[in-house]
Amino acid sequence: MSMFLARRLVTRCFSSRPLHVCIVGSGPAGFYTADKLLKAHEGARIDIIDRLPTPYGLVRSGVAPDHPETKIAINQFSRVAQHERCAFYGNVKLGSDLSLSELRDLYHVVVLAYGAESDKDLGIQGESLGGVFSAREFVWWYNGHPDYSSLKPDLKSSDTAVILGQGNVALDVARILLRPTTELASTDIATHALSALEESSIRKVYLVGRRGPVQAALTAKELREILGIKNLHIRIKETDLSVTPADEEEMKNSRARKRIYELLSKAAAAAGTFEGDCGQRELHFVFFRQPERFLESDESKGRVSGVNLEKTILESVGSGKQIAVGTGEFEDINCSMVLKAIGYQSVPINGLPFDHKKGIVPNVRGRVVSTEPGLYVCGWLKRGPVGIIATNLYCAEETVGSISQDIEEGGVGKSEKEGSKGLMQLLEKKEVKMVDFSGWEKIDAKEKQMGIDRNKPREKLVTWEDLLAAASADS
Ligand code: NAP
Repeated sequence: MSMFLARRLVTRCFSSRPLHVCIVGSGPAGFYTADKLLKAHEGARIDIIDRLPTPYGLVRSGVAPDHPETKIAINQFSRVAQHERCAFYGNVKLGSDLSLSELRDLYHVVVLAYGAESDKDLGIQGESLGGVFSAREFVWWYNGHPDYSSLKPDLKSSDTAVILGQGNVALDVARILLRPTTELASTDIATHALSALEESSIRKVYLVGRRGPVQAALTAKELREILGIKNLHIRIKETDLSVTPADEEEMKNSRARKRIYELLSKAAAAAGTFEGDCGQRELHFVFFRQPERFLESDESKGRVSGVNLEKTILESVGSGKQIAVGTGEFEDINCSMVLKAIGYQSVPINGLPFDHKKGIVPNVRGRVVSTEPGLYVCGWLKRGPVGIIATNLYCAEETVGSISQDIEEGGVGKSEKEGSKGLMQLLEKKEVKMVDFSGWEKIDAKEKQMGIDRNKPREKLVTWEDLLAAASADS
């Protein structure tokens, strides 16, 4: 049946009886799902819950402060949250405040869209040393996420930081470390991060990839942006730019790959014979190196003093893909901080099937497999931690298509459910102090007001106490 016909029938079926839906996670995947469900089902009553008192997930905590244009999606999400058939309840944590089975008892449809709030591990020696962070921790720190506002990364012990991975998250954290702080001061960066960056002695950032310039996971727009930072010297070894027939083939099949290679080659040529200059900021692209172990400082026990890297070569594994293989040759880069930007990871919850290898909930077009009908996923929890905000539009469309089909076929939405009313009773019984959208609006107003004094779009509240106090303040 076509999606169009399914929508028409479903809308008619539910015009008299509400379809109670709970979406867990108020990031892009959650809000796009809510938007599409509201449009597809006249009878849908949607509650969006989030463990944080603030909505918008990755848009608030993940998008870099110097990318305000990406945050415009918030306007659309805010309209969805204020729709008469939609409600936001923050400070409600699935897994501790509520169980999945409790939610499923209350709602016809539960959509899990809580993203990827953990990190892939390298599983190598020294990974727990002080000064080794995941890029997510660092991003949450500079974005004022209340779980990481007290991280205190040491930016003063040396002039060098190493970033492992060459995706867009790696570029984000490199840019924040290297961009002149005068350019960050007027963004919504957390003040504790701005102050630390203003005092930072980091001048050299090594961006380490296990494969070559043709395979770097970053995108051209973001690469151009970092290459364009004022007074930043780019260092790329000429030898890393030589290409094999397999690389040529990859570039022939992907204009994006070719463009990135050309940009890197141009940057290498422009760098010329620069020898280094005291205080000058430098970005070193290091290719064909994989992390072997983290080195512990002799002077400062328990802290990282460098990374031992193994040189790699590429091996074709069919269908045009090349993987990195260690050569048994090693070298060190000394540094006082390492950021692992090798990918985010979703976290399982009790009662939910989970594919630990892929880090996703096993699903077919958003339908969670091996469970009673009515449970769905969307976003990074559904497809893994890749893609930009807009990718979630298509992802949500697919999940909502599956929901519509299941309702139409009679597998979902037939029984009586309590929806919001039952949720409110349960939260009250459990003494969970949820923050509704009006509570968020108070936080929002306070942050914007505080931002005026500092010439910023907002000054984020960065502790749980401050956020909850602002949400419950008298207006
Ligand atoms: P990503 O794009 O998947 O990049 C991960 C990087 O880590 C790759 O260079 C990968 O190398 C490397 N890596 C993975 N496992 C490794 C290991 N065991 N050892 C060494 N290196 C390893 O992930 P991401 O940077 O976290 O980004 C997540 C998604 O968000 C991406 O789709 C990204 O485009 C998007 N994003 C977009 C923006 C933007 O549009 N401005 C900003 C941030 C993020 P291999 O390629 O060899 O696996």
